[in-house]
Amino acid sequence: MIDLINLSSINVDAEKKTAWVQAGATLGQLYYRIAKKSKILGFPAGVCPTVGVGGHFSGGGYGYVMRKFGLSADQVVDAHLIDVRVTVPSTVTAFTVTRTLENNATKILDKYQYVADKLPEDLVISATFRAVSLSTTKKKGTITCSFSSLFLGGVDRVLPLMQERFPDLGLTKEDCKEMSWIESAIYLSGLQASEPYKLEALLDRNYSKSFFKEKSDYVRENTWCRET
Ligand SMILES: Cc1cc2nc3c(=O)[nH]c(=O)nc-3n(C[C@H](O)[C@H](O)[C@H](O)COP(=O)(O)OP(=O)(O)OC[C@H]3O[C@@H](n4cnc5c(N)ncnc54)[C@H](O)[C@@H]3O)c2cc1C
Repeated sequence: MIDLINLSSINVDAEKKTAWVQAGATLGQLYYRIAKKSKILGFPAGVCPTVGVGGHFSGGGYGYVMRKFGLSADQVVDAHLIDVRVTVPSTVTAFTVTRTLENNATKILDKYQYVADKLPEDLVISATFRAVSLSTTKKKGTITCSFSSLFLGGVDRVLPLMQERFPDLGLTKEDCKEMSWIESAIYLSGLQASEPYKLEALLDRNYSKSFFKEKSDYVRENTWCRET
């Protein structure tokens, strides 16, 4: 059980008409802090001042101004969500293994569909197809399937795991790159293929200079989802 009583700071910005309220504050404290800043600002919430904002805001929040202004939840414009389990390990492992049709891509992809959803939750593998030309005249081509992955742990753990669960991919130690989670965000997004990864790349809003066109058929019938 977590006691939120000390997480009860309330910062009202009367000019912007917003407030940051910590989850342990009560409605009474919130009303009080708003009233200290302004006589004409209010907040639509419940009647009892002892109710905590944490459960109240996440569950609705009925009150006497609801017909005009709605519920508390309607007025929440932003939130910091904190989860005690969100830390990521200091070292993660990323890899991208690409196979062509000539290198068994079809068979590996077939196998992938049976194993991907049953892997431990520390491991995610995506599969992406691309048509590529094998000659400069573009007369000869093939299709590649790239298996990109993030594992929340080191190479020493992911290699035996892959050998046990998905040996068809033929993952080797050389395919694997150990890095921090934030570096993996840069690597897996394609911003930078190799070290040194520059975190500032994540702030660049105009990085993509390449343009491409994609098309595909629509799925007209999905037998997996059909109710029986
Ligand atoms: C005397 C009284 C009067 C009430 N009056 C009204 C009213 O006028 N209008 C109305 O709409 N409702 C009213 N309620 C209902 C009230 O809104 C809910 O009981 C609300 O869930 C209380 O939130 P709490 O944080 O005080 O309670 P808690 O019991 O602490 O929390 C309720 C739920 O929310 C979760 N929770 C709380 N804080 C967080 C957080 N920070 N992050 C994630 N989860 C969290 C808890 O785990 C729990 O599941 C009243 C309740 C009481 C007891």
